[in-house]
Amino acid sequence: MYVIIGTGAGGAIIARELAKNNLPVTILEKGPYIKSKDAFNYYDKYNETVDLLTTTCIGGATIVSMSNMVRALDEELLDYGVDLSEAYRYVEELVGVHQLDDSHIGKGTQAFLDAGEELGLNTMKMPKAIREEDCIQCGKCAFGCPADAKWSGKDFVDEAVEAGATLITEAEATEIMTENDAACGVKYIKDNQEQIIKADKVILSAGAIGSTFILRNTGISEAGRELFFDPFVSVGGYLKDVNFNTEVQMAGLVIGENFVLSPHFSSFIRANIPDDNVTDNDILSIMVKTPDEAKGYIDDDGEVVKINTIQDIRYLAEGTATAGFILEKAGVDPNTIGSTVYRGAHPGGTAAIGKIVDSNLETEIENLYVCDASVLPISPGKPPILTILALAKMLADHLKN
Ligand SMILES: Cc1cc2nc3c(=O)[nH]c(=O)nc-3n(C[C@H](O)[C@H](O)[C@H](O)COP(=O)(O)OP(=O)(O)OC[C@H]3O[C@@H](n4cnc5c(N)ncnc54)[C@H](O)[C@@H]3O)c2cc1C
Repeated sequence: MYVIIGTGAGGAIIARELAKNNLPVTILEKGPYIKSKDAFNYYDKYNETVDLLTTTCIGGATIVSMSNMVRALDEELLDYGVDLSEAYRYVEELVGVHQLDDSHIGKGTQAFLDAGEELGLNTMKMPKAIREEDCIQCGKCAFGCPADAKWSGKDFVDEAVEAGATLITEAEATEIMTENDAACGVKYIKDNQEQIIKADKVILSAGAIGSTFILRNTGISEAGRELFFDPFVSVGGYLKDVNFNTEVQMAGLVIGENFVLSPHFSSFIRANIPDDNVTDNDILSIMVKTPDEAKGYIDDDGEVVKINTIQDIRYLAEGTATAGFILEKAGVDPNTIGSTVYRGAHPGGTAAIGKIVDSNLETEIENLYVCDASVLPISPGKPPILTILALAKMLADHLKN
Protein backbone atom coordinates (compact mmCIF):
# COMPACT_ATOMS: atom_id res chain seq x y z
CA MET A 1 0.00 0.00 0.00
CA TYR A 2 1.25 3.50 -0.93
CA VAL A 3 -0.04 6.19 1.42
CA ILE A 4 0.16 9.74 0.09
CA ILE A 5 -0.28 12.65 2.49
CA GLY A 6 -1.59 15.85 0.86
CA THR A 7 -3.17 16.53 -2.54
CA GLY A 8 -1.33 19.67 -3.72
CA ALA A 9 1.31 20.04 -6.40
CA GLY A 10 3.38 17.13 -5.05
CA GLY A 11 0.80 14.62 -3.83
CA ALA A 12 -1.93 14.69 -6.48
CA ILE A 13 0.17 13.63 -9.45
CA ILE A 14 1.87 10.82 -7.55
CA ALA A 15 -1.56 9.46 -6.60
CA ARG A 16 -2.62 9.66 -10.25
CA GLU A 17 0.47 8.03 -11.65
CA LEU A 18 0.49 5.14 -9.15
CA ALA A 19 -3.26 4.49 -9.25
CA LYS A 20 -3.29 4.47 -13.05
CA ASN A 21 -0.60 1.78 -12.87
CA ASN A 22 -2.97 -0.35 -10.76
CA LEU A 23 -0.95 0.13 -7.59
CA PRO A 24 -2.83 0.33 -4.27
CA VAL A 25 -3.04 3.97 -3.15
CA THR A 26 -4.66 5.70 -0.18
CA ILE A 27 -4.62 9.49 -0.04
CA LEU A 28 -4.92 11.36 3.27
CA GLU A 29 -5.97 15.01 2.91
CA LYS A 30 -6.34 17.32 5.89
CA GLY A 31 -8.82 19.63 4.19
CA PRO A 32 -12.25 18.95 2.70
CA TYR A 33 -13.20 18.04 -0.87
CA ILE A 34 -14.61 21.28 -2.30
CA LYS A 35 -15.63 22.91 -5.57
CA SER A 36 -12.89 25.05 -7.14
CA LYS A 37 -15.07 28.16 -6.98
CA ASP A 38 -15.21 27.91 -3.15
CA ALA A 39 -11.44 27.65 -2.64
CA PHE A 40 -11.03 31.24 -1.35
CA ASN A 41 -12.68 30.12 1.90
CA TYR A 42 -9.81 27.72 2.63
CA TYR A 43 -6.82 30.08 2.86
CA ASP A 44 -4.87 29.38 6.07
CA LYS A 45 -4.32 31.94 8.81
CA TYR A 46 -0.76 32.73 9.83
CA ASN A 47 0.75 34.81 12.57
CA GLU A 48 0.85 38.58 12.24
CA THR A 49 4.54 38.84 11.42
CA VAL A 50 4.51 36.60 8.33
CA ASP A 51 2.03 37.16 5.54
CA LEU A 52 2.13 33.75 3.92
CA LEU A 53 -0.56 32.41 1.58
CA THR A 54 -1.38 28.68 1.71
CA THR A 55 -4.62 26.69 1.69
CA THR A 56 -5.94 23.53 3.34
CA CYS A 57 -8.35 21.72 1.02
CA ILE A 58 -8.32 19.30 -1.88
CA GLY A 59 -5.66 20.39 -4.39
CA GLY A 60 -3.74 22.43 -1.78
CA ALA A 61 -2.50 25.78 -3.05
CA THR A 62 -2.83 24.66 -6.68
CA ILE A 63 -6.57 25.30 -6.45
CA VAL A 64 -6.03 29.04 -5.85
CA SER A 65 -3.04 29.25 -8.15
CA MET A 66 -2.99 31.23 -11.40
CA SER A 67 -1.94 28.03 -13.19
CA ASN A 68 1.31 29.69 -14.21
CA MET A 69 3.59 26.92 -15.43
CA VAL A 70 7.27 27.69 -15.89
CA ARG A 71 10.36 25.55 -15.61
CA ALA A 72 12.57 26.55 -12.70
CA LEU A 73 15.81 25.27 -11.13
CA ASP A 74 16.35 22.76 -13.96
CA GLU A 75 20.05 23.67 -14.20
CA GLU A 76 20.56 23.94 -10.43
CA LEU A 77 18.94 20.55 -9.73
CA LEU A 78 21.49 18.84 -11.98
CA ASP A 79 24.08 19.64 -9.29
CA TYR A 80 21.96 17.59 -6.86
CA GLY A 81 21.82 14.60 -9.22
CA VAL A 82 18.30 15.38 -10.43
CA ASP A 83 17.65 15.65 -14.18
CA LEU A 84 14.05 16.73 -14.80
CA SER A 85 14.19 17.19 -18.58
CA GLU A 86 12.04 14.15 -19.46
CA ALA A 87 9.68 14.67 -16.54
CA TYR A 88 9.15 18.31 -17.57
CA ARG A 89 8.14 17.26 -21.07
CA TYR A 90 5.68 14.71 -19.65
CA VAL A 91 3.97 17.06 -17.18
CA GLU A 92 3.82 19.97 -19.61
CA GLU A 93 1.85 17.81 -22.01
CA LEU A 94 -0.27 16.30 -19.24
CA VAL A 95 -1.52 19.64 -17.89
CA GLY A 96 -1.55 21.32 -21.31
CA VAL A 97 0.96 24.13 -20.77
CA HIS A 98 0.60 26.87 -23.38
CA GLN A 99 0.52 30.64 -23.76
CA LEU A 100 -3.02 31.97 -23.79
CA ASP A 101 -4.74 32.80 -27.05
CA ASP A 102 -4.85 36.56 -27.78
CA SER A 103 -8.61 36.42 -27.13
CA HIS A 104 -7.68 35.95 -23.45
CA ILE A 105 -5.11 38.73 -23.26
CA GLY A 106 -6.86 41.84 -21.91
CA LYS A 107 -6.09 45.53 -22.31
CA GLY A 108 -4.03 45.83 -19.10
CA THR A 109 -1.98 42.72 -19.87
CA GLN A 110 -1.34 43.94 -23.42
CA ALA A 111 -0.19 47.32 -22.07
CA PHE A 112 2.23 45.45 -19.76
CA LEU A 113 3.56 43.32 -22.66
CA ASP A 114 3.96 46.32 -24.98
CA ALA A 115 5.72 48.39 -22.31
CA GLY A 116 8.07 45.51 -21.44
CA GLU A 117 8.97 45.08 -25.12
CA GLU A 118 9.53 48.82 -25.60
CA LEU A 119 11.86 48.89 -22.60
CA GLY A 120 13.88 46.02 -24.08
CA LEU A 121 13.01 43.62 -21.26
CA ASN A 122 12.75 39.84 -21.62
CA THR A 123 8.95 39.89 -22.13
CA MET A 124 6.51 37.12 -23.06
CA LYS A 125 3.04 35.73 -22.48
CA MET A 126 2.96 33.53 -19.36
CA PRO A 127 2.82 29.75 -20.00
CA LYS A 128 -0.36 28.51 -18.30
CA ALA A 129 -2.60 25.48 -17.83
CA ILE A 130 -5.95 27.18 -18.47
CA ARG A 131 -8.64 25.95 -20.87
CA GLU A 132 -9.64 29.05 -22.85
CA GLU A 133 -12.90 27.43 -23.98
CA ASP A 134 -14.09 27.35 -20.33
CA CYS A 135 -12.43 30.53 -19.03
CA ILE A 136 -14.87 33.41 -18.53
CA GLN A 137 -12.12 36.03 -17.97
CA CYS A 138 -13.45 37.15 -14.58
CA GLY A 139 -10.08 37.90 -12.93
CA LYS A 140 -10.86 35.59 -10.01
CA CYS A 141 -8.10 33.00 -10.52
CA ALA A 142 -6.79 33.36 -6.95
CA PHE A 143 -10.27 32.83 -5.47
CA GLY A 144 -10.49 29.38 -7.05
CA CYS A 145 -11.96 29.23 -10.52
CA PRO A 146 -15.71 29.96 -10.89
CA ALA A 147 -15.69 28.23 -14.31
CA ASP A 148 -13.37 25.32 -13.46
CA ALA A 149 -11.16 26.38 -16.35
CA LYS A 150 -7.78 25.96 -14.62
CA TRP A 151 -5.80 22.82 -13.97
CA SER A 152 -5.43 22.02 -10.27
CA GLY A 153 -4.31 19.05 -8.19
CA LYS A 154 -7.99 18.25 -7.68
CA ASP A 155 -8.16 17.09 -11.33
CA PHE A 156 -5.46 14.49 -10.65
CA VAL A 157 -7.07 13.33 -7.40
CA ASP A 158 -10.31 12.74 -9.30
CA GLU A 159 -8.41 10.69 -11.88
CA ALA A 160 -6.64 8.72 -9.15
CA VAL A 161 -9.94 7.91 -7.43
CA GLU A 162 -11.47 6.89 -10.74
CA ALA A 163 -8.51 4.52 -11.20
CA GLY A 164 -9.15 2.92 -7.81
CA ALA A 165 -7.36 5.06 -5.20
CA THR A 166 -9.02 5.64 -1.83
CA LEU A 167 -9.34 9.28 -0.77
CA ILE A 168 -9.82 10.11 2.91
CA THR A 169 -10.50 13.82 3.40
CA GLU A 170 -10.50 15.83 6.64
CA ALA A 171 -7.81 13.42 7.81
CA GLU A 172 -4.80 15.14 9.41
CA ALA A 173 -1.66 13.03 9.29
CA THR A 174 0.39 13.54 12.43
CA GLU A 175 3.23 11.03 12.43
CA ILE A 176 4.83 8.32 10.33
CA MET A 177 5.04 4.94 12.07
CA THR A 178 8.33 3.09 11.74
CA GLU A 179 9.68 -0.38 12.34
CA ASN A 180 13.40 -1.20 12.04
CA ASP A 181 14.06 2.32 10.72
CA ALA A 182 11.57 1.88 7.87
CA ALA A 183 8.16 3.48 7.41
CA CYS A 184 5.28 1.07 8.02
CA GLY A 185 2.23 3.27 8.49
CA VAL A 186 0.73 6.67 9.25
CA LYS A 187 -1.09 8.00 12.30
CA TYR A 188 -3.82 10.50 11.49
CA ILE A 189 -6.73 12.26 13.12
CA LYS A 190 -10.19 11.87 11.64
CA ASP A 191 -13.40 12.88 13.42
CA ASN A 192 -11.31 13.80 16.51
CA GLN A 193 -10.02 10.25 16.82
CA GLU A 194 -6.55 8.92 16.18
CA GLN A 195 -6.48 6.32 13.42
CA ILE A 196 -3.73 4.22 11.91
CA ILE A 197 -3.19 3.10 8.34
CA LYS A 198 -0.53 0.56 7.41
CA ALA A 199 1.77 1.37 4.50
CA ASP A 200 4.66 -0.14 2.59
CA LYS A 201 5.69 3.26 1.34
CA VAL A 202 4.69 6.73 2.54
CA ILE A 203 4.89 9.86 0.41
CA LEU A 204 4.72 13.04 2.42
CA SER A 205 3.32 15.91 0.33
CA ALA A 206 1.73 18.11 2.98
CA GLY A 207 3.51 21.27 1.78
CA ALA A 208 6.60 22.95 3.23
CA ILE A 209 4.93 23.75 6.55
CA GLY A 210 2.69 20.67 6.95
CA SER A 211 5.44 18.20 6.03
CA THR A 212 7.80 19.80 8.56
CA PHE A 213 5.43 19.11 11.45
CA ILE A 214 5.04 15.46 10.44
CA LEU A 215 8.78 14.95 9.91
CA ARG A 216 9.56 16.43 13.31
CA ASN A 217 6.94 14.25 15.01
CA THR A 218 8.63 11.30 13.31
CA GLY A 219 12.04 12.18 14.76
CA ILE A 220 13.54 14.11 11.82
CA SER A 221 14.06 17.20 13.94
CA GLU A 222 16.23 19.05 11.39
CA ALA A 223 13.23 19.60 9.10
CA GLY A 224 12.06 23.21 8.86
CA ARG A 225 15.28 24.79 10.19
CA GLU A 226 15.60 26.58 6.84
CA LEU A 227 12.78 28.07 4.78
CA PHE A 228 12.32 30.40 1.82
CA PHE A 229 9.03 31.74 0.51
CA ASP A 230 9.67 33.67 -2.75
CA PRO A 231 8.65 37.11 -1.48
CA PHE A 232 6.35 39.27 -3.57
CA VAL A 233 4.74 42.68 -3.61
CA SER A 234 2.29 44.14 -6.09
CA VAL A 235 3.10 47.60 -7.41
CA GLY A 236 0.54 49.65 -9.30
CA GLY A 237 -1.42 52.84 -9.84
CA TYR A 238 -4.14 54.70 -11.71
CA LEU A 239 -4.94 54.01 -15.36
CA LYS A 240 -8.48 55.11 -16.12
CA ASP A 241 -10.93 52.42 -17.29
CA VAL A 242 -8.23 49.81 -17.91
CA ASN A 243 -10.58 47.16 -16.39
CA PHE A 244 -7.59 44.98 -15.63
CA ASN A 245 -9.37 43.55 -12.57
CA THR A 246 -11.56 41.38 -14.80
CA GLU A 247 -8.77 40.00 -17.00
CA VAL A 248 -7.07 36.62 -16.72
CA GLN A 249 -4.45 37.35 -14.07
CA MET A 250 -0.68 37.00 -14.57
CA ALA A 251 -0.97 36.34 -18.29
CA GLY A 252 2.24 38.29 -19.06
CA LEU A 253 5.79 37.75 -17.83
CA VAL A 254 9.02 39.73 -17.65
CA ILE A 255 12.05 37.73 -16.57
CA GLY A 256 14.83 39.75 -14.93
CA GLU A 257 18.10 38.44 -13.54
CA ASN A 258 16.91 38.60 -9.93
CA PHE A 259 13.12 38.88 -10.23
CA VAL A 260 10.08 38.08 -12.32
CA LEU A 261 7.24 40.51 -13.02
CA SER A 262 3.68 39.70 -14.01
CA PRO A 263 0.50 41.80 -14.28
CA HIS A 264 -1.59 41.09 -11.19
CA PHE A 265 -4.55 43.05 -9.84
CA SER A 266 -4.51 44.08 -6.19
CA SER A 267 -7.33 46.05 -4.57
CA PHE A 268 -4.81 47.21 -1.93
CA ILE A 269 -3.34 49.48 -4.62
CA ARG A 270 -6.67 51.24 -5.08
CA ALA A 271 -6.92 51.66 -1.32
CA ASN A 272 -3.54 53.49 -1.42
CA ILE A 273 -4.91 56.21 -3.74
CA PRO A 274 -6.70 58.97 -1.83
CA ASP A 275 -9.32 59.73 -4.48
CA ASP A 276 -12.89 58.43 -4.09
CA ASN A 277 -13.43 58.50 -7.86
CA VAL A 278 -10.77 55.85 -8.45
CA THR A 279 -12.31 52.36 -8.64
CA ASP A 280 -10.93 48.84 -9.08
CA ASN A 281 -11.55 49.30 -12.84
CA ASP A 282 -8.87 52.03 -12.91
CA ILE A 283 -5.94 50.04 -11.48
CA LEU A 284 -3.05 48.44 -13.33
CA SER A 285 -0.64 46.59 -11.08
CA ILE A 286 2.30 44.23 -11.39
CA MET A 287 3.46 41.45 -9.10
CA VAL A 288 7.18 41.55 -8.33
CA LYS A 289 8.49 38.18 -7.21
CA THR A 290 12.06 37.39 -6.16
CA PRO A 291 14.12 34.42 -5.02
CA ASP A 292 15.05 34.75 -1.32
CA GLU A 293 17.77 33.19 0.79
CA ALA A 294 16.54 30.31 2.95
CA LYS A 295 17.02 32.22 6.21
CA GLY A 296 13.51 31.64 7.51
CA TYR A 297 12.56 28.71 9.71
CA ILE A 298 9.72 27.11 11.63
CA ASP A 299 10.30 27.51 15.34
CA ASP A 300 9.64 24.90 18.02
CA ASP A 301 6.15 26.35 18.59
CA GLY A 302 5.35 25.81 14.91
CA GLU A 303 5.45 29.52 14.02
CA VAL A 304 6.95 30.53 10.67
CA VAL A 305 9.78 33.05 11.12
CA LYS A 306 11.06 34.97 8.09
CA ILE A 307 14.31 36.89 8.08
CA ASN A 308 15.05 39.21 5.16
CA THR A 309 18.65 39.50 4.03
CA ILE A 310 20.21 42.50 2.30
CA GLN A 311 20.18 40.46 -0.91
CA ASP A 312 16.45 39.72 -0.54
CA ILE A 313 15.72 43.43 -0.16
CA ARG A 314 18.01 44.40 -3.04
CA TYR A 315 16.30 41.98 -5.43
CA LEU A 316 12.88 43.25 -4.40
CA ALA A 317 14.01 46.86 -4.93
CA GLU A 318 15.37 46.05 -8.41
CA GLY A 319 12.11 44.35 -9.39
CA THR A 320 9.96 47.12 -7.94
CA ALA A 321 11.88 49.84 -9.76
CA THR A 322 11.56 47.94 -13.05
CA ALA A 323 7.82 47.48 -12.45
CA GLY A 324 7.59 51.27 -11.94
CA PHE A 325 9.19 51.90 -15.36
CA ILE A 326 6.77 49.47 -17.03
CA LEU A 327 3.74 51.02 -15.34
CA GLU A 328 4.73 54.53 -16.39
CA LYS A 329 5.40 53.38 -19.98
CA ALA A 330 1.99 51.64 -19.96
CA GLY A 331 0.28 54.95 -19.12
CA VAL A 332 -0.17 54.69 -15.35
CA ASP A 333 -0.08 58.06 -13.55
CA PRO A 334 3.36 57.96 -11.85
CA ASN A 335 2.11 60.10 -8.96
CA THR A 336 -0.27 57.33 -7.94
CA ILE A 337 2.14 54.37 -7.97
CA GLY A 338 2.30 52.48 -4.69
CA SER A 339 2.94 49.01 -3.34
CA THR A 340 1.24 46.36 -1.26
CA VAL A 341 2.89 44.87 1.82
CA TYR A 342 5.46 42.14 1.51
CA ARG A 343 4.07 38.62 1.30
CA GLY A 344 5.03 35.06 0.37
CA ALA A 345 3.09 32.35 -1.45
CA HIS A 346 5.71 29.69 -2.21
CA PRO A 347 7.03 28.32 1.10
CA GLY A 348 9.73 25.73 0.47
CA GLY A 349 13.15 24.36 1.31
CA THR A 350 12.23 22.84 4.69
CA ALA A 351 13.29 19.28 3.75
CA ALA A 352 15.78 20.09 1.02
CA ILE A 353 17.36 17.61 -1.36
CA GLY A 354 20.90 16.97 -0.13
CA LYS A 355 19.93 17.71 3.48
CA ILE A 356 16.76 15.89 4.55
CA VAL A 357 16.08 13.80 1.42
CA ASP A 358 18.38 12.22 -1.14
CA SER A 359 18.13 12.64 -4.90
CA ASN A 360 15.34 10.00 -4.94
CA LEU A 361 13.47 12.15 -2.37
CA GLU A 362 13.83 9.43 0.31
CA THR A 363 14.53 10.40 3.92
CA GLU A 364 16.89 8.65 6.33
CA ILE A 365 13.84 6.50 7.17
CA GLU A 366 13.56 3.84 4.50
CA ASN A 367 10.35 4.02 2.43
CA LEU A 368 9.51 7.49 3.69
CA TYR A 369 9.64 10.00 0.84
CA VAL A 370 8.95 13.73 0.76
CA CYS A 371 7.63 15.29 -2.43
CA ASP A 372 6.41 18.87 -2.30
CA ALA A 373 7.96 22.34 -2.12
CA SER A 374 9.86 21.24 1.00
CA VAL A 375 12.47 19.43 -1.08
CA LEU A 376 13.46 22.37 -3.32
CA PRO A 377 17.08 23.08 -2.34
CA ILE A 378 16.95 26.78 -3.22
CA SER A 379 14.27 29.37 -3.80
CA PRO A 380 13.13 29.35 -7.43
CA GLY A 381 11.83 32.94 -7.33
CA LYS A 382 9.37 31.76 -9.98
CA PRO A 383 6.11 29.78 -9.96
CA PRO A 384 7.20 26.36 -8.61
CA ILE A 385 4.23 24.09 -9.46
CA LEU A 386 5.70 22.75 -12.72
CA THR A 387 8.99 21.90 -11.00
CA ILE A 388 7.17 20.14 -8.15
CA LEU A 389 5.04 18.23 -10.67
CA ALA A 390 8.18 17.14 -12.53
CA LEU A 391 9.88 16.03 -9.30
CA ALA A 392 6.73 14.09 -8.38
CA LYS A 393 6.59 12.41 -11.79
CA MET A 394 10.23 11.40 -11.33
CA LEU A 395 9.41 9.95 -7.90
CA ALA A 396 6.33 8.13 -9.22
CA ASP A 397 8.51 6.45 -11.87
CA HIS A 398 11.02 5.47 -9.19
CA LEU A 399 8.26 4.03 -6.97
CA LYS A 400 6.66 2.09 -9.84
CA ASN A 401 9.90 0.19 -10.53
C1 LIG B 1 -2.71 32.57 -4.40
C2 LIG B 1 -1.61 31.68 -4.92
C3 LIG B 1 -1.35 31.63 -6.28
C4 LIG B 1 -0.33 30.80 -6.75
N1 LIG B 1 -0.14 30.73 -8.11
C5 LIG B 1 0.82 29.90 -8.58
C6 LIG B 1 0.98 29.71 -9.98
O1 LIG B 1 0.25 30.27 -10.80
N2 LIG B 1 1.96 28.87 -10.40
C7 LIG B 1 2.81 28.23 -9.53
O2 LIG B 1 3.70 27.49 -9.98
N3 LIG B 1 2.66 28.38 -8.19
C8 LIG B 1 1.67 29.16 -7.70
N4 LIG B 1 1.49 29.25 -6.35
C9 LIG B 1 2.33 28.46 -5.47
C10 LIG B 1 1.94 26.98 -5.50
O3 LIG B 1 0.53 26.85 -5.46
C11 LIG B 1 2.59 26.24 -4.34
O4 LIG B 1 3.98 26.53 -4.34
C12 LIG B 1 2.42 24.73 -4.52
O5 LIG B 1 1.05 24.38 -4.57
C13 LIG B 1 3.09 24.00 -3.37
O6 LIG B 1 2.89 22.62 -3.53
P1 LIG B 1 3.01 21.65 -2.30
O7 LIG B 1 2.72 20.28 -2.79
O8 LIG B 1 4.28 21.92 -1.60
O9 LIG B 1 1.88 22.13 -1.26
P2 LIG B 1 0.34 22.38 -1.44
O10 LIG B 1 -0.02 22.52 -2.86
O11 LIG B 1 -0.04 23.48 -0.52
O12 LIG B 1 -0.31 21.01 -0.90
C14 LIG B 1 -0.20 20.59 0.44
C15 LIG B 1 -1.41 19.71 0.73
O13 LIG B 1 -1.23 19.02 1.97
C16 LIG B 1 -2.41 19.12 2.75
N5 LIG B 1 -1.99 18.94 4.15
C17 LIG B 1 -1.30 19.80 4.94
N6 LIG B 1 -1.05 19.24 6.14
C18 LIG B 1 -1.58 17.99 6.11
C19 LIG B 1 -1.65 16.93 7.05
N7 LIG B 1 -1.10 17.03 8.27
N8 LIG B 1 -2.31 15.79 6.71
C20 LIG B 1 -2.87 15.66 5.46
N9 LIG B 1 -2.82 16.64 4.53
C21 LIG B 1 -2.17 17.79 4.85
C22 LIG B 1 -2.97 20.48 2.38
O14 LIG B 1 -4.35 20.59 2.69
C23 LIG B 1 -2.71 20.48 0.89
O15 LIG B 1 -3.71 19.80 0.18
C24 LIG B 1 0.46 30.04 -5.85
C25 LIG B 1 0.18 30.08 -4.49
C26 LIG B 1 -0.85 30.87 -4.02
C27 LIG B 1 -1.15 30.87 -2.55
